[in-house]
Amino acid sequence: MSIRIKGFIENSLIEWPGNIVSIIFLPHCNLRCPYCHATHLVKNPNELECIPLESVIERIRQNKSWLDGVVISGGELTLHSDIDSLISIFKEMGLRVRIDTNGTNPHIVEGFIRRGLVDCVAMDIKAPLNEEKYRKAAGGYCDLLEIEKSIRLIMESGIEYEFRTTVCPAFLDGSDIVEIAQSIAGSSKYVLQAFRPNNCLDDTMLKVVPYSEEEMAGFAREAQRFVKNCYVRGEEVKVLSSNW
Ligand code: SF4
Repeated sequence: MSIRIKGFIENSLIEWPGNIVSIIFLPHCNLRCPYCHATHLVKNPNELECIPLESVIERIRQNKSWLDGVVISGGELTLHSDIDSLISIFKEMGLRVRIDTNGTNPHIVEGFIRRGLVDCVAMDIKAPLNEEKYRKAAGGYCDLLEIEKSIRLIMESGIEYEFRTTVCPAFLDGSDIVEIAQSIAGSSKYVLQAFRPNNCLDDTMLKVVPYSEEEMAGFAREAQRFVKNCYVRGEEVKVLSSNW
């Protein structure tokens, strides 16, 4: 297997609510979101030391009696051609697997779902499905047809999923969040993540003032009109809707 692992967290109680998981971070990404915090994985991944794949697999095997699953994050995992071999190893251990993706490669995610390799998909939605807005928030061109395909296949997959958006004031306002929520109308979970002006891919983001907690909560309330559950990550506050 040619996969290079660049980060490993042995156990987390909060990454996948309800599950105790290990988290694996893979290098490289096909997007360049200016607010991205995985700068090291995206910009200069080859300069980072690799964590030996065998030792990560062995550690997870040793812990499998009390682990529920593994989260594979990045970077963008769909860029790695033999990622399914790695996922299969964890599935054979009886562990649940969540993948984090930016939704640019729906055919790969579809293959994982069809083959029963993943139990949960977390997909970023960077902006409303509008060429100009998406290009700015994703840091470059993004094929919106592929993003839409990913949204539909995930919603129709029958497995657990979440959509999420980092709400950076440089690119998104409340009406954009509503527009995104409308494009995933009826979905079971939409999570808003606060933008944090530190360690960003683009240094100009360091000057951007984040939305307040109140503003974020207001965005979640508005988005809640279109999805079954929308909340701001980290606050554990469920915004209940009279519509559902
Ligand atoms: S935030 Fe954007 S650039 Fe960073 S890993 Fe995710 S998709 Fe890639």
